[in-house]
Amino acid sequence: MKIDRNYVDGHMLNSIRMAVLIIIVFSLINFGHYYMSLRIFQENMIETTLQRTKNYISRTLKDVNHTYEYASLALAELYSYKIQQHYDPTALLLELNEKKESLSVKTIGLVDIQKKLYLDNFGRILSIDTTSDRDKWIQDFLDLPQDYRYNFYDPDDAEYETLYSFYYDQKLKDDNGNVIGILGVGINYNALYTRVQGLDENIDVSFLNKSGAVRLPKHTKGESIFSLFPYVTEEQFHSALREDQIVWEDSTGESFLLYFHYLTDINRVLLLKMDFTEYYNQSKKQHFYSFILGVGLILIIVVLNLLLSFYQSHKLKHTAYYDSLTNCRNRHYLESRIKKSKYWLKIRQSECSLIAFDIDHFKNINDTFGHLEGDRVLKQVAEIVRSCLRNSDDFIRWGGDEFIVLFDMDAQNAIKITERIIEHVEQETRVSLSIGITNISPEDSFKSVMARADSALYDAKENGRNQVKAQWLIIES
Ligand code: GH3
Ligand code: MG
Repeated sequence: MKIDRNYVDGHMLNSIRMAVLIIIVFSLINFGHYYMSLRIFQENMIETTLQRTKNYISRTLKDVNHTYEYASLALAELYSYKIQQHYDPTALLLELNEKKESLSVKTIGLVDIQKKLYLDNFGRILSIDTTSDRDKWIQDFLDLPQDYRYNFYDPDDAEYETLYSFYYDQKLKDDNGNVIGILGVGINYNALYTRVQGLDENIDVSFLNKSGAVRLPKHTKGESIFSLFPYVTEEQFHSALREDQIVWEDSTGESFLLYFHYLTDINRVLLLKMDFTEYYNQSKKQHFYSFILGVGLILIIVVLNLLLSFYQSHKLKHTAYYDSLTNCRNRHYLESRIKKSKYWLKIRQSECSLIAFDIDHFKNINDTFGHLEGDRVLKQVAEIVRSCLRNSDDFIRWGGDEFIVLFDMDAQNAIKITERIIEHVEQETRVSLSIGITNISPEDSFKSVMARADSALYDAKENGRNQVKAQWLIIES
């Protein structure tokens, strides 16, 4: 007979199920929280970056415009005076060139309408022909009602590549208010770029035309915004013409924000690509760590709780199933196991045997030496008996000074052990044992086996005690 010691009762199973459920539910909640906080982080990023960039860019553009506007206005006054005087165009060209350097502007050009002369940025003195492609812009500007204009000159023609810049054109007037010339001052793209980078060094600046084609920087010139950044929709881009837009873009492990701002003056869309891969990854990592920490903590708490509950249930069971004095199993244990049909079935089908034994004249020990000594003797007897048994034998205190042993072996072998027990107890204690032994047949109930063992025990007592008596059930084959 092999008693199944691995059985886990329903209570434990429920506790485990509950713990797993708590861990799963909590992990899901925690994961939901992790996902949501990342989303909120993204939304906050978009919102704050949009506001911050909007303010910064409008300030920067205003600054840049003012600087060149003032320079241009001052120069306009000077040169409207000069071209009304008698002047030497070559000397004036040289002077303009020097001004270019001292004012750190990229290009400078002067148109004298009366003399039909154009002192251009390449150091040429050209005579104006407003019907030509080259000079058409002069007439266009003169036709405008206002005295100045901003312009982003991004020619496709390679000949004019070096003129690539932001212009501030100013009409020159005489004392009577008649337009007598034009002064054009061009700022280098880099000047603006450097200013914008003050916002954040991980910024790329581009300028696009209204249909989304890149005009600057030159290495992506002509490419479409929609193929460069697949997350940008046409709708988003077109609404950027009315109101600043920001788009979150993730590509090949990079995270960045695209900021669109339409510049009415020069009819171009300013695009800032702000890279924050490192910042975002770091924040993602932090969110992930707090997720893992949360799951880890709940795991520890639940497992500790489970262990505690196992320990308590084990202790409870021990108290319920064990006799505290002798540390033997108790009657309740055997009875509740026998109720489980499989247990008794197994015993009946294996070759098992049972003994019932009782201490002889135990009352005398109590009466003569007291109850404490009686307890000590009970414990001593139990220890001796246990030392003669194997792990697979079940040793039960049946009540008072009576015990039973369910042997996982046939009665012939059990008798030998029983005799050894009698011998040891007699030698090592002040008491002796009377033992009744019986075999267990497949037809037996526990009750019938106990009845035979009890009867054999009675025989042993009757026959003078300190001995083993047997009652066999003859199995006819
Ligand atoms: P017999 O040889 O006929 O068995 O005589 P006996 O004196 O042993 O008689 P019986 O078995 O009927 O008496 C058992 C006694 O064991 C009765 C009770 O006072 C005593 N006893 C029962 N449980 C305990 C216990 O836990 N501790 C102590 N000290 N005595 C107990
Ligand atoms: Mg007794």
